[in-house]
Amino acid sequence: MKPAPFKLCVPEEEQEILALLHEYGSEARVLAGGQSLVPLMNMRIMQPKVLISLNRCSALGYIHEQNDGYALGARTRQAEIEDSDLVATQLPLVSAAMPYVGVRASRNYGTICGSLAHADPLAELPSVAAAMEAQFEIASVRGKREVSSDEFYLSALSNCLEPDEMLRQVWIPKALPESRSVFLEVSNRSHGFALVGLALYASIDADGICRKVRLAAMGLSETTLRLRLAEKLLEGNVLTDELIEQASVVSTDATEPHSDIHADGKYRRRVASTLVKRALQNCSETVN
Ligand SMILES: Cc1cc2nc3c(=O)[nH]c(=O)nc-3n(C[C@H](O)[C@H](O)[C@H](O)COP(=O)(O)OP(=O)(O)OC[C@H]3O[C@@H](n4cnc5c(N)ncnc54)[C@H](O)[C@@H]3O)c2cc1C
Repeated sequence: MKPAPFKLCVPEEEQEILALLHEYGSEARVLAGGQSLVPLMNMRIMQPKVLISLNRCSALGYIHEQNDGYALGARTRQAEIEDSDLVATQLPLVSAAMPYVGVRASRNYGTICGSLAHADPLAELPSVAAAMEAQFEIASVRGKREVSSDEFYLSALSNCLEPDEMLRQVWIPKALPESRSVFLEVSNRSHGFALVGLALYASIDADGICRKVRLAAMGLSETTLRLRLAEKLLEGNVLTDELIEQASVVSTDATEPHSDIHADGKYRRRVASTLVKRALQNCSETVN
């Protein structure tokens, strides 16, 4: 199957990209790595009249230190992030998740912002962004605005971008020295899309007390889901086996995971609870 006819624009400057987005509005789509968009166009699930490619705009390919964190530009490839020593030391949760995102061939061209904007409920990077409380910088001819992960994700494959807006960069805070970052997922086959996954970021002080805990799961809801009940239970307390058990139980309370040919909702909830337990045990082992 081949895509419906479309016009391809390949601007070299960011302002040109924004002007084209403004000119074509909802008829256009941003083309980043094409690893999700092109297959959807080939199946004619998506039929944009105009594609506005980011791929010749080198100014959007960067990993910049910014305000106690790092800004990752819209054209930064997933493989660049995966290979970056800086990301490995400063953003360990991002590094931990990268090997789960597709295959190396898709990561060579796929972008981090493309994965975030695509908003697949089973994608790893939206959960990493939620757990790290990333800031999404959105640009249009009207200027820039910033939103949190909660504000960015609306539902499956749906984000808060206006038709003439692009996700210009994602800003992720540096991991604190005393923090722990754990990424776990279960899928039917290696390198397949996850059934359920979990991103954990926790800062634990010298007395073993959880000062801050962020848990974000994929596969439990239409978007990445912060497990706030468990976070609240853990914060201010020492990670004991009893507390870990309680947290893994409450973590999936009130969740209604969907069922499909890959797994049913009950199974997804049970797996998520187990991943919470394993991730917290992993944390407590490195503390003790
Ligand atoms: C074999 C294979 C396996 C894969 N497995 C996984 C997996 O396990 N986990 C996973 O998360 N992903 C997986 N993917 C998808 C992959 O990670 C894609 O790279 C990613 O989903 C989209 O990023 P992209 O840069 O390729 O964007 P594109 O495919 O170019 O775009 C995706 C969507 O986002 C929009 N978009 C892209 N960039 C922007 C922007 N800056 N601003 C506004 N809108 C934008 C596009 O218009 C489009 O609607 C897989 C892909 C392949 C081919």
